[in-house]
Amino acid sequence: MNMGKRTVSVLLVLISTLTMIFTAFTAMPVEAKAATPITIVIDPGHGGVGERNLGAQYNGFSEKELTLQLATALKAELEKYDNVTVLLTRTTDTILSLDSRAEYAKNVGADFVYSIHFNASAEHEFYGSEVWTSTFGNYYQRGKDFGEIVSAEWNKLGLYQKGVKTRIGNKGQDYYGIIRGCVSRGVPCVILEHAYLDHDYDVALLRTSGFINKLAVCDATAIAKYYNLKSTATGADYTGFTYEHSKKPYGRLYQDETGPETCNISVLAQDEASGNILVEMTTHDSQSPVIYFSYSYDGGKTYSVLQMWDRTKDTQSFNIKVPSGTANPVIVCRSYNNYEKMSESSPVQVTGSFNY
Ligand SMILES: [Zn+2]
Repeated sequence: MNMGKRTVSVLLVLISTLTMIFTAFTAMPVEAKAATPITIVIDPGHGGVGERNLGAQYNGFSEKELTLQLATALKAELEKYDNVTVLLTRTTDTILSLDSRAEYAKNVGADFVYSIHFNASAEHEFYGSEVWTSTFGNYYQRGKDFGEIVSAEWNKLGLYQKGVKTRIGNKGQDYYGIIRGCVSRGVPCVILEHAYLDHDYDVALLRTSGFINKLAVCDATAIAKYYNLKSTATGADYTGFTYEHSKKPYGRLYQDETGPETCNISVLAQDEASGNILVEMTTHDSQSPVIYFSYSYDGGKTYSVLQMWDRTKDTQSFNIKVPSGTANPVIVCRSYNNYEKMSESSPVQVTGSFNY
């Protein structure tokens, strides 16, 4: 065989191969996301009998029932979009181990698992929505990115947003079994804690008509935005939706175990005739956002319900109204980050008799 001809044909093959690879690469970001079928697994948390299986039970709400209601509504909402297969880990009130839920997701080739939950705290003080994601690299990033998108949707319903968090167990793995089980099988997973069943602020929202359906629309919209889905049926089109990727952590991302580093207060003004005391607080946490504060006017014996703290500012002022008949109140304030870790100010004595 003629060596020259052979070189030419090798070159031709090489050029056409390179062209094919180049075309594939340039075409990918536009085509692949919206047009590639995806499989979404929705995991209604809890189920069956026994304390852990019931989930949170407060104010007439049952977590295991709400999760199934919401998951069912979310499936219907998400199925309006093109190229998406939606599967549930359970469709009845039954006990299912966290590992078998993860195994199911892997077996059906899930692209993402959304574990649906409602919250409660031992203190019954906290309110709002939060998202738990894996502590590890790529899995963290995908959960964090999705979490920010869904948080923006929930915010529109008036739910207070606690943010996206991570938690590591004592063996250095993801603390939450469903996340750990999914990630160990190569499937990204987030836990969606929509609202607290044991706090008035969230319960008032939960009691508004059609709220579970509104949550389902939020979750479906967030998934559609994250995957750039569109719906021929409804005309919704998120193919052009963009978001900023969060940073992928090196190694594990540890949870915040400490309260805000600073929590200082000063009294700016007082008015004995109306019972009002104007307090300025400066609080800062370098690891996580400060999201709540509370105040006491009896030296820390009793505290107000948790107030919302504007996380974009370190210094804010607020009014404390003391009851008529209060003499020489002692102000103490607390600030909490989104891991519910708290710091307390030094007490500040106010001199005066508040009678009005
Ligand atoms: Zn739960």
